[in-house]
Amino acid sequence: AQKAAQQPQGPQKVAGIDRIIAVASGKGGVGKSTVSVNLACALAAEGRRVGLLDADVYGPSQPRMLGVSGRPASPDGKTILPLRNHGVTMMSIGLMTNEREAVVWRGPMLMGALQQMMGQVQWGALDVLIVDLPPGTGDVAMTLAQKYALDGALVVSTPQDVALLDARKGMNMFEKLGTPIYGLIENMSTHICSNCGHEEHIFGHGGVAAEAESMGVPLLAEIPLHLDIRTSSDGGAPIVVSKPDSPQATAFRDIARRL
Ligand code: ADP
Repeated sequence: AQKAAQQPQGPQKVAGIDRIIAVASGKGGVGKSTVSVNLACALAAEGRRVGLLDADVYGPSQPRMLGVSGRPASPDGKTILPLRNHGVTMMSIGLMTNEREAVVWRGPMLMGALQQMMGQVQWGALDVLIVDLPPGTGDVAMTLAQKYALDGALVVSTPQDVALLDARKGMNMFEKLGTPIYGLIENMSTHICSNCGHEEHIFGHGGVAAEAESMGVPLLAEIPLHLDIRTSSDGGAPIVVSKPDSPQATAFRDIARRL
């Protein structure tokens, strides 16, 4: 009898997707989704074919941030049609569950959902797929890095010590799994008053830069804490779309240019 075809080992590429970039954070609420959506929109504005996979099972926020609603259709019952806005093709795990339902999925279900989103969504040909991971180093992040050939990971942290400690764990995980780390992004770096422009280091200063230095990874950006960044995401038109020339948008566009 003929030997069964050998399953290829190690992380796989996804057909039609040129690069997969993971956006990770140690903690929730540090701005990982904000960075993901603004990067996706900035890359799309540069003319790249961009997908955004919202894999944050605990707090999927991309439908709101990207301003899309409704359920993705599955005309053939096998594949899923993603949604699209601001030049970005998006699928969210939040669209596979009821918005008010708490997600109590266990590891194997999470991994199944991730594989479904990677393999059954009709992404089309993409230059870049940005994956907005759940915070921390759980099953989704591990599975993604183990099963799929990631081009690299971006790690988002605030300047606070607690967030930094968790970000370090995330970077260690990617290192162990052989995923290149593009660099750290400091979010909520300084607060810029939308009224008078006064700057204040609400969460401290310099911590992420020092961490990047000690880990030997680049500090890719320092993104200010600014009211417009939140209101624009809440309104479904991220800052790089709604105010592309504002200094707040520049930080995201600079990162996109370096990717
Ligand atoms: P995470 O994905 O890490 O959980 P989010 O991106 O959802 O975090 O951000 C949490 C909240 O903070 C959101 O309401 C978001 O709009 C807001 N936010 C994130 N970054 C900034 C920023 N730089 N300035 C103002 N608000 C921000």
